[in-house]
Amino acid sequence: MNLQVFSLPMTTRFRGITEREGVVISTGSIHRFEGSGGWGEWSPFLDYDIPEIEPWLRCAEEAAAGDWPTPLRETVPVNATVPAVGPERAHEIVTRSGCATAKVKVADPGQSLADDIARVEAVRDALGPAGNVRIDVNGLWTVEEALASIKVLDRAAGGLEYVEQPCPTVEELAEVRRAVDVPIAADESIRRAADPYRVRDLEAADVAVLKVQPLGGVRACLRIAEDIGLPCVVSSALETSVGMAAGIALAAALPELPYACGLGTVSMFTEDIAGVPLLPSGGVLPVLSASPAPVRLLAEPALAAAPERTEFWRRRLADVLAYRETLR
Ligand SMILES: [Mg+2]
Repeated sequence: MNLQVFSLPMTTRFRGITEREGVVISTGSIHRFEGSGGWGEWSPFLDYDIPEIEPWLRCAEEAAAGDWPTPLRETVPVNATVPAVGPERAHEIVTRSGCATAKVKVADPGQSLADDIARVEAVRDALGPAGNVRIDVNGLWTVEEALASIKVLDRAAGGLEYVEQPCPTVEELAEVRRAVDVPIAADESIRRAADPYRVRDLEAADVAVLKVQPLGGVRACLRIAEDIGLPCVVSSALETSVGMAAGIALAAALPELPYACGLGTVSMFTEDIAGVPLLPSGGVLPVLSASPAPVRLLAEPALAAAPERTEFWRRRLADVLAYRETLR
């Protein structure tokens, strides 16, 4: 297995990091080029332990093997993401994105509900009446806060498409869902393959947010989507274009895709490792039959991780493969 380690600067701090590290693997020659398939991305976050990152590797292996299901659509709609910025900046982000759906971050620890209201109003103004406004709470509300805030923000938005992860636990999501009319989406509650079933069984959400790496790949996610019977939104784990292609492949293969996906995140990097970055145009991303080759990573040493970090990732991969042996 060929392995190349990348380190890409990000435009804004995310999960406390400003550099995103990960690995691209190829089962064949590293000289394969764009369109020929044979590449996959493995980029589990650094704070995840070995058992947790094993499914992430399955996603990369599936991509490198070129083993994706047949797409049912040629493009995938994506949402614009509005961080906890002021209303003017929020308006500008949405207008420039060309997206018909915007996901607005709310409940930022440094801000008040009044800030969230102003931001949501500005986003609705930018989208017009036909657009969709969803909010992402990242589990930061208590049930009481959720009930009060959802009511107010739903009014400010002129109707919310859904509320993503209003509270931290699945039980709390279920409680909020029973008390409000706005649909609830589970995101952080779905990190491992068993999680979507728990969300379904507790009737905790109307929408499931699926990410291909943590859940073990495109085909694994497709099975989960079928089993849980909930509409799914495909979201990224901040992959480069090589990994993003897998999320797009899932969104393209889902029988129903009623919501825009959270796959427009390649723009959070100042550089990309593919020849043509998978950035949305007119609010949609193109569906590819295989991951693009990391041609820029192979050509530009500045995008590669330092030797000690490459060594770290080689060890991490060896640890995961050793762990996998214990599962047999
Ligand atoms: Mg989220």
